[in-house]
Amino acid sequence: MTLSTVCYRCGAEYGATIARCDCGEPLWFDRTTDFTWPDAGTGPGLWRYHEMLPTSAPEGIARTVGGTELVRTPRLDDVAGCQIHIKDEGQNPTGSYKDRGSAVAVPHALEHGADVVGTVSYGNMAMSTAAHAASMGRECIVLVPSDIPPSRLELIAQYGPTILQVDGDYGGLYEEALRLNKALPVQFLLSDAPGRISGYRTAVYELYESLRPETPDAIVAPTSSGGLASGLWRGILDLQGAGIIDQPPRLYLVHVAASDPITRAFVDGESEVTALHPNEVEETIAHSIGNPDPPSGTRALNAIRETNGAALSVSDEEIREAQRQFAQHSGVCVEPAAATPLAGVISLTDSGEIAADENVALFLTGTGFKELGVGNDPVEIESVARSDLEAWVESTIQ
Ligand SMILES: *Cc1c(COP(=O)(O)O)cnc(C)c1O
Ligand SMILES: [Zn+2]
Repeated sequence: MTLSTVCYRCGAEYGATIARCDCGEPLWFDRTTDFTWPDAGTGPGLWRYHEMLPTSAPEGIARTVGGTELVRTPRLDDVAGCQIHIKDEGQNPTGSYKDRGSAVAVPHALEHGADVVGTVSYGNMAMSTAAHAASMGRECIVLVPSDIPPSRLELIAQYGPTILQVDGDYGGLYEEALRLNKALPVQFLLSDAPGRISGYRTAVYELYESLRPETPDAIVAPTSSGGLASGLWRGILDLQGAGIIDQPPRLYLVHVAASDPITRAFVDGESEVTALHPNEVEETIAHSIGNPDPPSGTRALNAIRETNGAALSVSDEEIREAQRQFAQHSGVCVEPAAATPLAGVISLTDSGEIAADENVALFLTGTGFKELGVGNDPVEIESVARSDLEAWVESTIQ
């Protein structure tokens, strides 16, 4: 089935592999069909919703993506000030929600004339794209900007992509990659690739299916390029279009304060998100969400306005605290970017934007295991003589 992509803003239609509209906004796949709940046992993972996806399940790790459990975590309610449910996307094969996008976008690109896939990233996006290409036996090209920390390359390199360091910043590489998509039989699958967005929207279907007959009052997710936000919004629109939900959940997007163009546009009442200047951007521990020039920023801004949500920013300090709270109140290890929903929800309940009895779903976008062991957080422990051990354990128990 050949599907067209459409622009959410002006309605223009394009071919299946075009990522951006002439009006400047990113495209996404239209509904293939009205959403209906799949039969019990349909699967695996996100392929449960294959009727809504532009391609079918390839062999390999794509089949292990999605289907993440929605978990009630009452011990986080006290911290957050409302009824918390977590969607732990760190359980995907490369440890982040990006796998939902790659599982769909990689086979879709190969079906539509690409011999090779690629991406521009030195983080989760690169790992995920490279892993899914490897699983399908295809070459992957990862473009990285000149200023990246070499320690991060090891995670990507294990999957065997060609990694090219190119001078210039991330925004410039994004444009260059879109140009190469048109010139060569390669598809660089960037944050807003329509195939990716269609994979992300399955997370909303899963959320509603898990909670039935209850519904979430709000969804809180980290944001950077606006790709995840677009997918969540698209999923909400699909369920609304099918009459499954009439009141959309409020979508709250959490930026890190060090680089928060969507929050700024929201707070200033702008109709478009504009890129931040390099001198407006600071260093952050939440390196997965530092994009100062989000390709889907304006679409994300529309998503929060249309759902009566908001964009907000949290500090690195609040993120570190939220990371600890996730580990110690729910047993989940998240990377800094994925801790932002908890930091965000704390400030939203403080301000009365979210009420104590509301059901709130937090999207934990990536595991923290990739970052442990690099000495960021030295641990102090007690040293005990073996002869004193019993007394120590006894006093610890009391
Ligand atoms: C990519 C990423 C995000 C942000 O997603 P965008 O689509 O860029 O907005 C959030 N958290 C983690 C862990 C990520 O890897
Ligand atoms: Zn358009």
